[in-house]
Amino acid sequence: MGQLLDGKLVAASLKEETLKQANELREKGIIPKLTIVRVGAKPSDLAYERGALKRMEACNIDVEVKELDAEISQDDFVAELKKINEDPATHGILIFSPLPEQLNDSEIKYLIAPEKDVDCLSPINVAKMNVGDPTGLTPCTPTAVMEILKYYDINPTGKDCTVVGASNVVGRPVFELLLNEMATVTICHIETKDTSYWTKQAEILVVAVGVPKLVKESWVSEGTIVVDVGINFDKDGKMCGDVDFDNIVDKASMITPVPGGVGSVTTSVLAKNVIKACKQQNGLN
Ligand code: NAD
Repeated sequence: MGQLLDGKLVAASLKEETLKQANELREKGIIPKLTIVRVGAKPSDLAYERGALKRMEACNIDVEVKELDAEISQDDFVAELKKINEDPATHGILIFSPLPEQLNDSEIKYLIAPEKDVDCLSPINVAKMNVGDPTGLTPCTPTAVMEILKYYDINPTGKDCTVVGASNVVGRPVFELLLNEMATVTICHIETKDTSYWTKQAEILVVAVGVPKLVKESWVSEGTIVVDVGINFDKDGKMCGDVDFDNIVDKASMITPVPGGVGSVTTSVLAKNVIKACKQQNGLN
């Protein structure tokens, strides 16, 4: 059986380091703070928010939740965002997405202050990530993938990596982050002719498609390291990933479970990013 890549252990290790840094900032009189911007009350946003609040508390980071009316206009949203951008007490801003239809997220992403943009919405941070500029803030879920690899001493340098899924929020950033580590990366998407050909080539396989158990045992070569970003529910309502875990676990050398894998690490990366942003805004590194 492949070794389980336990997201909870990774999260605990990140928490320890983040808490230490938050306490050091507090000793200097700096109170690290995240402001969460939530429009309406979607159950998925509320679930993520509960996890984020718990993690910030564990890391001694203050949090404020700005709940905005589900019907808010673009102008009113932009005015609220401007206030938060300019609030010196806020070091990190997380805007839940997707936003409701009346809001224009392609305008909003240009308006969030890049130095406070802890989930890499701003094209400035995307560009910094794409050129490997370490002053940028990288997105939480893709960075969680990288933190899992790092915790388990899996060095992507020179490795053949395949990423399945090319969304702007998960697949593409994972591609860039792996490339920054000098991996040889292939990315597959819905128009890829034969995704299973590419998954079989992978030494490290990262899957983020949103299709329950898409990746079958026959798609994976012996000894592959498998990171499953997917969060889905099967027909019995049980949470499952994008990988057929039960049939792949014996073939993989290492594999993340769902739940208990990538999803457990995301809010710890968020906390780490708030501390990074806070330090940068205070001229500390
Ligand atoms: P998305 O729908 O935006 O993108 C899916 C991507 O997969 C697209 O690029 C699409 O072309 C590709 N794709 C779809 N079917 C395919 C197929 N049959 N073969 C190859 N490529 C295919 O989804 P997303 O937002 O990137 O999310 C992906 C998964 O990750 C979902 O299960 C989501 O719930 C999960 N997710 C998890 C976290 C976390 O914290 N663990 C965070 C965000 C998303």
